[in-house]
Amino acid sequence: MKKLLIANRGEIACRVIKTAKKLGIKTVAVYSDADVNALHVAMADEAVHIGAAPSKESYLQSQRILDAALALGVDAIHPGYGFLSENAAFANACAANGIEFVGPPTGAIEAMGSKSAAKAIMEKAGVPLVPGYHGDNQDPAFLKQQAISMGFPVLLKAAAGGGGKGMRQVHSEAEFDNALAAAKREAMSSFGDDLMLVEKYLTQPRHVEIQVFCDKHGNGVYLFERDCSLQRRHQKVIEEAPAPGMQADLREQMGDAALKAAHAIGYVGAGTVEFLLDVDGSFYFMEMNTRLQVEHPVTEMITGEDLVEWQIRVADGEHLPKTQAQLQIKGHAFEARVYAEDPNNDFLPATGTLAMLETPQESRFVRVDTGVREGDDVSVYYDPMIAKLIVWDENRDKALARLQSALRDYRICGMTTNLTFLHALASHPAFAAAELDTNFIHKHEQRLF
Ligand code: ADP
Repeated sequence: MKKLLIANRGEIACRVIKTAKKLGIKTVAVYSDADVNALHVAMADEAVHIGAAPSKESYLQSQRILDAALALGVDAIHPGYGFLSENAAFANACAANGIEFVGPPTGAIEAMGSKSAAKAIMEKAGVPLVPGYHGDNQDPAFLKQQAISMGFPVLLKAAAGGGGKGMRQVHSEAEFDNALAAAKREAMSSFGDDLMLVEKYLTQPRHVEIQVFCDKHGNGVYLFERDCSLQRRHQKVIEEAPAPGMQADLREQMGDAALKAAHAIGYVGAGTVEFLLDVDGSFYFMEMNTRLQVEHPVTEMITGEDLVEWQIRVADGEHLPKTQAQLQIKGHAFEARVYAEDPNNDFLPATGTLAMLETPQESRFVRVDTGVREGDDVSVYYDPMIAKLIVWDENRDKALARLQSALRDYRICGMTTNLTFLHALASHPAFAAAELDTNFIHKHEQRLF
């Protein structure tokens, strides 16, 4: 690979460019009207304008991105996360034009694109699933009967869902019909597809996900787990690795199950298998994300590996850089997602100009992945994430102290942010005690706001 186009923006585009530079690969950025002066454009060797500010008219314009890649003699395209990263048609179009898509084969993207189809494949492969119904029968009375027989509460989920959309908890038979109709409406308007699955709703699970990596020669390894239980409305807020209290044998079982999932679909590259871990230690497959995840840096911090470098090497046909036996966990890492949003107003996205931006001092303990500088705008067009603050230390307590102090050192003027909220979370005694489950924020609301 000599020249790589990054079909993305913001922090992840900058992140990919950094590693490409380290490997001596030339980089091409793409940008919209809103991003003419963006950091990722400044960092890349070349940059191509691809359209107006709304993503539909720029970062989701696969043909324009392909045209730019062909015009500039690009060998490969890195899709980052979001946008076109899980778009099988785009991956296919890259291949048809002789461009390497840095990601899994089209078939693997398609297999995991629907939560119901994915569950069917995993069931066959012997990966444990959240109990539920994931078939094609969408008759409301039939689905209600399924819910009754698994017992309330249940969770309705859009098969095409993502970002927590098209999901509804249902606590009783009486609520079922309205909840189903509402979830279907939301799924149709967000994804153009209202196929629903019904799952047993686990009341106090942890979200534990396994990072897997496979090469084109049939080898696969797992780079351990991340605990992403700290969520607000099913969206991750603070992630950490390793998962507190994780026993070696459970880690191995989950790692093996994740690899089984990856091999079942002929996986290549970086992937994440998400599980719910129940209080009794049972774990259940939820979904597989066929791309690099936002929270990949915590895995990098505890393994010392550069996952973007791994992606590029694997895309280039190399063998995995390490075997399972060569991979080890060292220390503990946290990632906090710094957002332009208002915690005191239902987390409404905020916009504005970063009039002052003081980031914590970076070191081997503190890393800041960002796509913005002082003076830049956070616009209405894209996800309002300002940065990811990542910290590492030799154990969880020390790493948590680093997270608290780095959050205190962060100063952002010009817009409302969630920094105070993140600090309150990081300082909460129950978080220090690692009393984690996906309802943590809801449960401790009173002390957080
Ligand atoms: P999305 O793709 O929309 O993010 P996921 O299927 O990944 O949806 O689920 C997101 C979050 O919702 C999980 O991390 C977990 O907190 C919660 N969740 C999903 N399924 C269940 C379930 N069966 N029981 C309890 N919580 C669940």
